[in-house]
Amino acid sequence: MARDSLRRLAAEFKQFLTAQGEDEWIAAAAPRRAAATVCTPSDTTTPQGDTLTVEFQQKKTTREMDSPAPMAKTMSTAQKTKALQTLAETIRNCSRCPLGSTRIQAVPGEGNVDTEVMFVGEGPGFDEDRQGRPFVGRAGQLLDKMIVAMGLTREKVFIANIAKCHPMIDPLHPEKHGNDRAPNAQEIACCRKYIEQQIAIICPKYVIALGGVAAKSLISDAKSLGALRGQFYDLHLDSVTLPKPVQIIATFHPAALLRNPGWKKDAWTDLQMVMDQLGLKGARK
Ligand code: SF4
Repeated sequence: MARDSLRRLAAEFKQFLTAQGEDEWIAAAAPRRAAATVCTPSDTTTPQGDTLTVEFQQKKTTREMDSPAPMAKTMSTAQKTKALQTLAETIRNCSRCPLGSTRIQAVPGEGNVDTEVMFVGEGPGFDEDRQGRPFVGRAGQLLDKMIVAMGLTREKVFIANIAKCHPMIDPLHPEKHGNDRAPNAQEIACCRKYIEQQIAIICPKYVIALGGVAAKSLISDAKSLGALRGQFYDLHLDSVTLPKPVQIIATFHPAALLRNPGWKKDAWTDLQMVMDQLGLKGARK
């Protein structure tokens, strides 16, 4: 490879590793695969050697690398449950990014494996880190209300995050409240494969991205959350091909709604778009 090309790749990689803000990671998306190589010795095994997902076709050989990503098979409920349990165990043992050394517990996600609706936030917070479950703090209580308002229950949907471990402003003091932050570009890139595999295994009809970080990451668009809201997108994953089409819509993160109650009306409009597609009457008055 020409020296100029190597220099350019090195510069892009450095930019990727230093991107911190939620708006920066998309700008660094081009070299994301290079960074993922650092995080992922193999696309099918963890550093501990565990099989990441047993239900997907084998990763392409080097000669086939330009072919589409592996195709996820449509699975039975039992196969989905087993695959998600295997994946959750891998996540709990994961140390592919620095969050693995500061978390109390990884938070793989939970819910109905046959759901039509999957909610995806940005990452665990204080309460989630302690309980190992997603959205169990104040924001989670509001999410529960949003789900019920749609005519669903927490048990009928699947809830997960882009990053599976608690990103902290000050990792040296995990006991502090108000220590949460959004996952940075490196953390998202390292963890991305997990949420992609969860979506591919569950294969819901709709993914509802909660907040700008999840929306930009999954829609792969650097626009603001305000610009991304209000429409459905076809979901495309990097590491696996979905067995059937999945649509994604973006709305506000419940934590943002707690800080800005005036946005709840717009969030409800977003949820109603999904309800209309699924024929849910919900708790609409
Ligand atoms: S955030 Fe994701 S990639 Fe990082 S250690 Fe946790 S599970 Fe692994």
